[in-house]
Parts: sequence; structure tokens; C-alpha cells
Amino acid sequence: MIDKNKILCFDSHLDISMNAMEWNRDQRWTVEQIRESEKGQSDKPDRGRNTVSFPALREGKVGLVVATQISRVVKPGGPIPGWYSQEQAWAFTQGQLEWYRSMEEAGEMKQIVDRSSLEESLALWENPNERTPVCYMLSLEGADSIISMHHLERAYKSGLRAIGPAHYGPGVYANGTDSSGRLNASGVELLNVMEQLDMILDMTHLNDDAFWHALDIFKGSIWASHNNCRAFVDHNRQFSDEMIHELINREAVIGLALDAWMMVPDWIRGESDPKTRNVTLEIMADNIDHICQLAGNSLHAGIGSDLDGGYGTEQCPFDLDTIADLQKLPDILRNRGFTDTDIENVMYLNFVRYLKGYFDK
Ligand SMILES: [Zn+2]
Repeated sequence: MIDKNKILCFDSHLDISMNAMEWNRDQRWTVEQIRESEKGQSDKPDRGRNTVSFPALREGKVGLVVATQISRVVKPGGPIPGWYSQEQAWAFTQGQLEWYRSMEEAGEMKQIVDRSSLEESLALWENPNERTPVCYMLSLEGADSIISMHHLERAYKSGLRAIGPAHYGPGVYANGTDSSGRLNASGVELLNVMEQLDMILDMTHLNDDAFWHALDIFKGSIWASHNNCRAFVDHNRQFSDEMIHELINREAVIGLALDAWMMVPDWIRGESDPKTRNVTLEIMADNIDHICQLAGNSLHAGIGSDLDGGYGTEQCPFDLDTIADLQKLPDILRNRGFTDTDIENVMYLNFVRYLKGYFDK
């Protein structure tokens, strides 16, 4: 049964199709069934440690999500896995799109593309049950797969509404986390066409130079789908207070993430342990609170969990077993003096309000 008293949750970053198509995780199964199916597998570090599936999303009343297509282009011999051509990367994102379509046909998901589909989704989640579709808006993490601006228009027609131009390292349009450099000429063109199409620019993963360059030239809607604060973990993947201030000035909402290395300093992948490092949901609340303090209100922080984004319970808060545990957050925030209105803002309302404004423009 879905507890109707739970507060609706909006998650601004989940790689759902990546898990279906690369990890071979049927999202209709329970988290437990997926874990069972991965017993003995060791091809990826998070095997058997997944936290997301449709039943868990429904249990946690995570009714509205931003769901990604994700596919990188890399050079042979590079440190990060990816495709060797944009055509391969594009085709891979189209496979991911077809998976979302098949989940819509199966009644498991419903796409949000405009104001009316957003309102329909909110209405469905006012009275949810075990069959209520997970409502998703499509986003692209890293724009490498966009072969040409013609492909960008095709993607928009498929319902793509947000793009983060970069991911990790060098990219076709912009360099991402752990790199430097402003947007290249193609990146500038990408942002121009995104602005014409009225797509949301996702600031997450842009390196510092590209972050400021993009803010300079892009006049459309911006947000950050999954980011934490440099004040707690001093790494280029995180936002400095100066960056957060600028995002607030631009009316952005920032989704806070649950990847342990972005929550505590000096995390070592495959070695550090969430329990011994005391990684809990309280740290997400620290990041939420930091943004609220900088803003002077609760209107710019949200949840962009990134759960099952290439890691599982080995690298996320130990008081979270599945994504349904996001429902622990309201009490954590209440104990810190957040009002009911503040809590609703953070749990879903900031992103919902943002999207209403975006669709009504
Ligand atoms: Zn990411």
C-alpha cells in the first residue's frame, strides 16, 4: 500500500534507462528481486547493491522524476568508458528512449513534456496506488551523442527538455568534471539552439571555466540536476558558494545528490565504507540547509539523488536501503527547524514550481 500521508517526492536525476539497458535491471522488479538476480555477478562494483526500481519509487512516493539518457564519446585508450563515435552514442541513447517508450506502453511510466502532462502527473500522484505510473521528464546527461543540431531538434520532439552539455573529462561540446576550458564553438552553437528550442541547461558536471562561460552566454532556463556543495567536499564536481549564489540569482533549483564521495571528503572508491565514514541522510540535509542559508529561503534546494548512478549501497548513506528511504528526509529537516512549507518546497514543490514557470513561458 502507498501511504497517502507521505509527502510527494521529486527526484531531479535518475539514470533509470541506463540501469535497464546497461545493468540489465528490469525496473518492474522489486529492489530485492534485482539484488537476488545479481548474486555472484562482479562485472560492476554495485552488483546486488541497487536501490531503485518502480516498486521502491512508488513506496517512497517518488512520483515525479527527471530520467536520463546517457552516452559518452571517448578516444581509444582513455580512462573513461564510452563509444568511439557520435553515431554509436546517438544510437545508444535512442535505445534508452525506446525502453522508456516500452515502459509507457506497459503503463509503468508517463512522460512529462508540457504543462498539461505535468498537471496530469501531479493529479495521478494525489491519489497513488501500486500501478500509478512513474512520471518522468527526459534529460540528457552529457551532450556527446547529439550528432548535429538536426538531431537536437529530433531529441526535442521526443520530449527531451533538459541537457547537461558535459559529463566527466573531455567532451564533444564542453569539458566536464575533472577538466578545464570554456565551451568550444560547437558548445556555443549547442547552447544557442537549446535557447531557441527553450530547453533547460543543466549546469551539473560543467567544469568551472565552462560553468561561467555558459552562464554568460545562455539566457534561457537553467538548473542543476545533481550537485553538492564545495563547502563540505572541496572538489571541482561540487559548487562553490559563489556558483550557488549565481544559480540562485538565475532562479535555478539545485538537486542534492547521494553519492558518498560527494558527501564526505577523501572518499576512496571501493575502499571507504559508508558506516565507518558515517555517511547518512543528515549530510544531504547539511547540503540542503547550506543552499537555503545562502538563498535566505527554502526555494532553491531539491533532491537529485542520482541513486544507482553507477554506484549502490556500497557508496551511499547507510540509513538508506532503497530510494523509498528518501521519506526519512522530512523528519530530518523538521528536526532542524524546517517548517512544513520548507519541507514541501525541498521534497517536490521547488522543482514543480520551476517546471510550471518553464512550461508557461
Ligand atoms: Zn552525473
